[in-house]
Amino acid sequence: MSLLVIGSVAFDAIETPFGKTDKIIGGAASYISLSASYFVKPINLVAVVGGDFPQEYIDSIRSKGVDTKGLQIKSTEKSFFWSGKYNYDLNSRDTLITELNVLGNFDPIIPDDYQNCEYLMLGNLSPDVQLKVIERLHNRPKLIVLDTMNFWMDIALDSLKQVISKVDVLTINDEEARQLSGEYQLKKAAQKIMLLGPKYLIIKKGEHGAILFHEDRSFYAPALLLDQVFDPTGAGDTFAGGFLGYIAKKDKTDFDTLKKALVYGSAMASFCVEKFGTENLFNLTEQQIEDRFNQFRIMVEF
Ligand code: AMP
Repeated sequence: MSLLVIGSVAFDAIETPFGKTDKIIGGAASYISLSASYFVKPINLVAVVGGDFPQEYIDSIRSKGVDTKGLQIKSTEKSFFWSGKYNYDLNSRDTLITELNVLGNFDPIIPDDYQNCEYLMLGNLSPDVQLKVIERLHNRPKLIVLDTMNFWMDIALDSLKQVISKVDVLTINDEEARQLSGEYQLKKAAQKIMLLGPKYLIIKKGEHGAILFHEDRSFYAPALLLDQVFDPTGAGDTFAGGFLGYIAKKDKTDFDTLKKALVYGSAMASFCVEKFGTENLFNLTEQQIEDRFNQFRIMVEF
C-alpha cells in the first residue's frame, strides 16, 4: 500500500536533563518516514530542506525505503531549525527557537507517481501547506491522518480548523486538546474536537500513553515503562509513523485495526525516546518491534 508523508525535515537542538545536542537532524517527516518504513515501502516523502542539509542523511533515509523524489532542496536557503528544552519529568517542554527558513514559503509539489496514494500522513507543518497537499491530490486517500501542535494553534487557528475538517484522524497531545477545545476534561475535549470533522481523535499523553476516541468509544494504550528515556523529541511523530504504517500494511481502517495501530505506534515511540534524535530508528528489526508489541499485551492483560 502506498503512503505519502509530508512534514518538516529539520535541524534540531535539544536539551534534556540528561544531555544536550548541537544541531542534529530531526523534523516531523524524518521521524514519521523512518518509523513507517518498518511497515510499508516505499514511503513517499514531500518536504523541503536548504542547501545546508547533509546529502548523507538523505541517502541514509533513502536506504530505508524512503522515496525522496518529493524532497525539495533549496540550495540558497537554510533548513528549518527548532530548539527545545525539556523539564525534569520529560513530559513538558519549552520551544526555545523556531526558525522557519525554507518552510516559510514551502510550496508542496507532489510528484506524479505519488498521486493515487492510499494513505496520507500530514505531519507537523503550516496548516496552509497541509491544505494544499489535500487539494493537490487527484483522488482522496482512504485515510488522512493529521498531526499539528500548539505553535499553529497560536498563529493559524482558522486554517488549522479548515484542515482539521478535512481529515479522518487527528493526533495531538493533551495540552493541545485542551487548548483547541477550551475544555479541561479530555472526554469533553475529544467530543468537541470530533465535531470539527475527524471521525477519530488520538490524544497523546507522553509517558502516560495515548487514547483513541471514536464516536462514543475510546481505547487506551499505556506507554511502556522503559529502563532509559533520553530524549522524547519526535516521539509523537514516530508514533504517527508506526500508527499509519501499520494501517497501510493491513489496508484496513476499522476501529479494531486502529486499536492495534495505536499499540504499534506506541511501540515505535518507545524506541525513539531511548536515544537522541532519529538514531534509534535506523537499525530496528521486525523481531524487536514484535517483542515490544507483546510487552504491551502482557502489561495490560488481566
Ligand atoms: P514531536 O516531539 O513529535 O512533537 O516532534 C518534534 C519535531 O517537530 C522536531 O524534530 C522539530 O523539528 C519538529 N517541529 C517543531 N516545531 C515545528 C513546527 N512549528 N513545524 C514543523 N515541525 C516542527
